Amino acid sequence: MEWCYELTDFDLSAFEQQAHERWKCAFEPDPSVKEKFYLNVAYPYPSGAMHVGHGRTYIVPDVIARFWRMRGRQVLYPMAFHVTGAPVIGISKRIARGDEKTIRLYRDLYKVPPAVLEKFVDPLTIVRHFSNEYQRVMTACGLSIDWRRRFTTVDPTYSKFIEWQWKHLYDAGYVMKGAHPVRYCTFDDNPVGDHDLLEGDKAEVIKFTLVMFRFGDAVIPTATLRPETIYGVTNLWVNPDVTYVRAFIDGKPWVISREAAEKLTLQDHTVTIEKEIPGKTLIDKKVSHPLCGEIPILPADFVDPDMASGMVMSVPAHAPFDYIALRDLQRQGRYTHIRPVPLIRVEGYGEVPAQDAVERAGITNQLDSRMDALTQEIYSSEFAKGKLFDKYGGKPVRIARDDVAALMTEQYGSMVMYEFDTRPVVCRCGNRVKVKILHDQWFLKYSDPAWKAQVSDQLKDMALVPTEVRIEFDRTVDWLKDWACTRRVGLGTRFPWDTAQLIEPLSDSTVYMAYYTIAHLIKEMAPETLNSEVFDYIFLGKESKSLPERVKLDAMRKEFLYWYPYNFRFSAKDLISNHLTFQIFHHVAIFEKKHLPQGMVVFGMGLLNGAKMSSSKGNVFLLEDAVKEFGADTVRMFLMGSAEPWQDFDWRNELVIPVKKQIERFYNAIREMKDAGGEPKDIDVWLMSRLQDHIEKTTISLENFQTRQALQESFFSIENDLKWYRRRLPDGSDGSRMLRSLCSAWIRLLTPFIPFTCEKLWQGIGGQGLVSFADWPVVDQKQKNRRIELAEELLLRTVEDLESIKKLIQITPKSITISLAPAWKHDIFTTIAHAPEKILAIREIMKDDLMRRRGKEATDAAKQCTNLIHRLPPHIVELIASDGVNERAVFEQAASFLEKEFGVPVHITDAESYHHPKAATALPFKPAIVIE
Ligand SMILES: [Zn+2]
Repeated sequence: MEWCYELTDFDLSAFEQQAHERWKCAFEPDPSVKEKFYLNVAYPYPSGAMHVGHGRTYIVPDVIARFWRMRGRQVLYPMAFHVTGAPVIGISKRIARGDEKTIRLYRDLYKVPPAVLEKFVDPLTIVRHFSNEYQRVMTACGLSIDWRRRFTTVDPTYSKFIEWQWKHLYDAGYVMKGAHPVRYCTFDDNPVGDHDLLEGDKAEVIKFTLVMFRFGDAVIPTATLRPETIYGVTNLWVNPDVTYVRAFIDGKPWVISREAAEKLTLQDHTVTIEKEIPGKTLIDKKVSHPLCGEIPILPADFVDPDMASGMVMSVPAHAPFDYIALRDLQRQGRYTHIRPVPLIRVEGYGEVPAQDAVERAGITNQLDSRMDALTQEIYSSEFAKGKLFDKYGGKPVRIARDDVAALMTEQYGSMVMYEFDTRPVVCRCGNRVKVKILHDQWFLKYSDPAWKAQVSDQLKDMALVPTEVRIEFDRTVDWLKDWACTRRVGLGTRFPWDTAQLIEPLSDSTVYMAYYTIAHLIKEMAPETLNSEVFDYIFLGKESKSLPERVKLDAMRKEFLYWYPYNFRFSAKDLISNHLTFQIFHHVAIFEKKHLPQGMVVFGMGLLNGAKMSSSKGNVFLLEDAVKEFGADTVRMFLMGSAEPWQDFDWRNELVIPVKKQIERFYNAIREMKDAGGEPKDIDVWLMSRLQDHIEKTTISLENFQTRQALQESFFSIENDLKWYRRRLPDGSDGSRMLRSLCSAWIRLLTPFIPFTCEKLWQGIGGQGLVSFADWPVVDQKQKNRRIELAEELLLRTVEDLESIKKLIQITPKSITISLAPAWKHDIFTTIAHAPEKILAIREIMKDDLMRRRGKEATDAAKQCTNLIHRLPPHIVELIASDGVNERAVFEQAASFLEKEFGVPVHITDAESYHHPKAATALPFKPAIVIE
């Protein structure tokens, strides 16, 4: 149709509609003779609507996909939905029981229609609804995804794939069974993964020793990481405002907090609560332990009933908190007879290290923010270099700690209690997470040193973007422990060796990038025919006699061999410590070396108006609303231009609005330039020469995933050049026919970022086919002209100087004199520019007789040239110093332009014949300017 080839007025939503029509099925790549580029992103868990933070996660890979497609690669960008696990089950339960907060979130924020919301009592309905929503909104954003390959992780064929994966892990000895402390939600009755947490995802499970103090017929246990300090215990701390309980633990009476009683039931103890004991009734009572004798119970309101047993032993000589708490009481005249009892000697501290440290730091009270650091400092020094006093055995702390723990366990009833190092840890359901010892729990043996070594080797061969994340990957591999890989509740694939359990979400999402390669073809196979021989053939090339439907399998094998290994995987940086590292573990365990992952790009966080985006806190802006309000291209350009992918970005509507204006400016600029037909002049040569640089820099930036830098080059730099170009055109000219090739290149450079607008413009300039598949612009060396660029740079800088001087002097000018530096200053400039040591260059210059005769004039010029060289971009300095530029010719040719710009006569003189005090300041590339 003729109409669509005209460039109508700027209307993003019309452009979107037209492009969607033309893109149908365009991004569905099959294996071909072209070189491939396969990238993928962590698939979403579709339990709510997409917000602008998700937008960036999927738009960055799309920009990269579009770039490589235009570079001539066959590009695969697939998408699927991760619906494994318990979260949607919790959501559907809460909706079923009418939980107002959840219903508000889904009805008001996610805008789920009432008729659909009603059906959310079925968890699968939730994920189905939002998978479709995700696809719709992703499409609206212009993501060039091959939707033929879409699947969900509860599809029966996918489960067959997961079973195959796990058979390999099991055969390799990486799947095992044992007892293990794990994070656990008693409401969901399920272990809790990082993704199931509202708060506390950094919390680690720590093993404490319970020290048993005798208290009448009962014991009071205190949890410690430093059992050796028992010799220095002076008292216990109990919170007088807390109600404790007397409970029978495995048949024996203990006094502990109510929270502790509940926790112990999860750690292999039988617990019966007998009665409550108000904390204040315990104060000033006595307890005893064979290793420290009889000690009193003192009041302290810092004692947290939710920390381990809820009771604390006090070692004021070695624990700053204990020292200050005791000192505070003693300053009120209480318990003044108690003295710290030191037991460890450590270099760098006096007799009582805690006292030393507190006094040195000038800490006056318990609330001082440096207390934690101080505690850690003493803990570390004593562990590294401390020795127990001779009367306590004289061993290094490092050894004594385990010895004392063993002694107390064998003889004095000590046992282990697990607790988090930081609290609170809160489940998505709102319940406090606790530590539970799971028996018959299945684990992935990430602690296996040989397996770790394979992963480390593979990491060395991978491209990691940005490079700084490498250290985090290495640390994760080092630190990773066995991983509880099954759950009792949720959606997902049944665990083959215990079908009452399910494979948990972070364990069934590690090699699905391989599944994408065959996802559209395997749909045609009956799931029950998909035994492990089938997958062994597709992914490992292993032949076997009984393979079904050989033709289909060969097609899948071909897809896999074409696309794998993937080139880059994209994900957020908080997934380094789990998913992104896990997937390497699983790949090295299963696939051939040549099919192992090649690279990863790690994203920063998204902020909304300066605060962390969070659906549960309502601080999100829905992606669909953003697209409707600002247009998809605007959303894309803002997200790509406001930060590099690995930096945090901040969505603010007031910053997005100008981006739409920028796109409109670009559109209108092309509309105006596309039919220009004048004869090319020097300024056209300049424009095209500069364009080659912008093409080169945009290309390099996108090769390095720097979307922001790429936009700076491809949008703003070209726009600036055009501004100057138009200024330099003679009156009445609208530019030369060279502008047409600039239009073509400019549209293509911006296509990855704003594809809708660019499709429209591409048609408008008569481009062939879809611009999404057009050739990426390449640098034409023949069009580079450094001489003209340098001349124009000189003029441009001089005009800027003129403008700022004019503003400064605030008189109506009558004439302008541009006064050019003499040849000897050019000699100085060149000598300094070429000198490796700029300061030494001045001495060298002054060895010259002629220069020495100039005296101060020459040394001043040398200093000024040095300053100028530091301020100019290095490539310009190099050009001036090598080819140089005929400054007089530049200004004589531009005289009429300057007179037009400033409306006064312009004189060009040599500084040495112009007797004005300012003339002496003329330097190469920086003439002296006199406005009168
Ligand atoms: Zn929960």
